Amino acid sequence: MLHSQPIRKVVILGGGTAGWISAALLKKLLGEAVAIELVESETIGTVGVGEATIPPIQVLNSVLGINEAEFLRETKATIKLAIRFENWKQQGHQYYHSFGAIGKSMAFCHFHHLLKRAGGLDDESQLWQYDLNYLCAEAGKFAKIKSKDPIIDMPYAYHFDAGLYAQYLRKFSEKLGVVRTEGLVEQVVQCQQSGSVQALVLKSGQKVTGDLFIDCSGFKGLLIQDTLRTGYEDWSHWLQCDSALAVPTERHEKTAPYTRSIAHSAGWQWRIPLQHRNGNGLVYSSSHYSQQEAADILMSNIDTKPLADPKLIRFQTGRRYQQWHKNVIAVGLASGFLEPLESTSIHLIQSAVVRLVHLFPHQGITTDIVDEYNKQSKVEFEQIRDFLILHYHVTERTDSQFWRDMRAMEIPDSLRHKIALFQENGRLFRDQNDLFLENSWLQVMVGQGIIPKDYHPTANSMSLEYIEETLKKIKAIKADPVSKLPSHDEFLAHYCKLGK
Ligand SMILES: Cc1cc2nc3c(=O)[nH]c(=O)nc-3n(C[C@H](O)[C@H](O)[C@H](O)COP(=O)(O)OP(=O)(O)OC[C@H]3O[C@@H](n4cnc5c(N)ncnc54)[C@H](O)[C@@H]3O)c2cc1C
Repeated sequence: MLHSQPIRKVVILGGGTAGWISAALLKKLLGEAVAIELVESETIGTVGVGEATIPPIQVLNSVLGINEAEFLRETKATIKLAIRFENWKQQGHQYYHSFGAIGKSMAFCHFHHLLKRAGGLDDESQLWQYDLNYLCAEAGKFAKIKSKDPIIDMPYAYHFDAGLYAQYLRKFSEKLGVVRTEGLVEQVVQCQQSGSVQALVLKSGQKVTGDLFIDCSGFKGLLIQDTLRTGYEDWSHWLQCDSALAVPTERHEKTAPYTRSIAHSAGWQWRIPLQHRNGNGLVYSSSHYSQQEAADILMSNIDTKPLADPKLIRFQTGRRYQQWHKNVIAVGLASGFLEPLESTSIHLIQSAVVRLVHLFPHQGITTDIVDEYNKQSKVEFEQIRDFLILHYHVTERTDSQFWRDMRAMEIPDSLRHKIALFQENGRLFRDQNDLFLENSWLQVMVGQGIIPKDYHPTANSMSLEYIEETLKKIKAIKADPVSKLPSHDEFLAHYCKLGK
């Protein structure tokens, strides 16, 4: 037994997105069984970015019992159907990674094999003609679709204002009974024998004691690293961007229901549309751009008026070797960071807290619990890491040293294996629990320029005429709802008034 006391009180250090998601979800799911106190310091503040999400956030909201209309209104949110990747494969080229299911799933034969057999995958842009998310993203349309036909489905996520989101979750958590303490943690008290954390000492002298500590203190990892020294696995040889400049700008007249990711010569730029403003930023490699160069690139590629000066954020991609150590669990940026290319960090917070709930050490912390938690977190981070490296490595760009380096770099064996299987005849497998399904890997592989040499022979079990007829029908079914839907802005204007 690492810590033999029953866990009655959880202390969360940090009131950013990680701190407040942890507080809300733990309190909602564990109820009166544990008391929760969250300590945060307004003088330090939060990282202030993190505005694009992926569809599993809907599960989080639904478990918390959040009213969607109120949520959209309070966080000034918009709908996200996809990410549009521009200039990634080549300058001037674009493709979507959408949340929709492309085509129709067939027993034992992925849709893309049929498309390949009918010649539709050689002209890669054909792929997205079978995707409702893509069609609506391009048309700037959205509504919550209810259809009995399972191929008419439009999974979505949100863009929201990070500051408003933290405030929203704070109000929500306090209503559930989470206690918030304002104050700067200046000292951490550890048990002399075990090294476990016993208390946080604030600048005011106040001592906050607990049984289990969740470190949501951001990049520095005040408990997991500064106190327990667990070490960091550095992945910056693969994910080389290490800096970001973020700037809010005035909103566009029309808000697009997708994130834009625009590659530059040594990094990429995000554009996130919100109801009241746009979020913009440049993620870049500081070995290739000076801060001034990065600022010039960012500011000359925004198309509405800036509302503040660009803010610099430095980071190192990778993960803590042990995300749970002794009685401390790191969640959010304190646990590691994989750069924001596929908007996975907020999801990793959600997934870490759900994992903790499943393994919650009600009767005390054991080695088995900690090992299981760390094993699952490691695999989850590695799978996302591979998906992100794919975007950088598989490119036809040779116009800058950065992109030449990306093409030439050694990639993890797990990713090399996945690419090789797909290249040969479109074989795709979902690794167990991989956040990204075959559909996501398909879009990014094809979008970045890998066209499989052949299709799987199971596609020969149908006649070519039958396949062509089926493709025509699916395309028509997918396109049918688009003209009937309201614009994304009309949807928001109407929906946000609901439930007041
Ligand atoms: C450039 C960039 C873009 C991103 N974009 C996305 C995105 O689009 N989608 C996505 O999912 N994620 C994104 N992320 C990640 C996302 O921002 C974070 O995962 C999320 O904000 C969680 O941050 P956090 O709560 O861990 O840390 P922070 O927001 O840094 O919060 C740390 C908290 O700890 C407190 N604290 C620290 N030290 C002390 C102390 N000594 N005493 C008291 N309190 C203390 C601070 O006051 C603060 O409340 C992005 C990250 C970066 C860097």
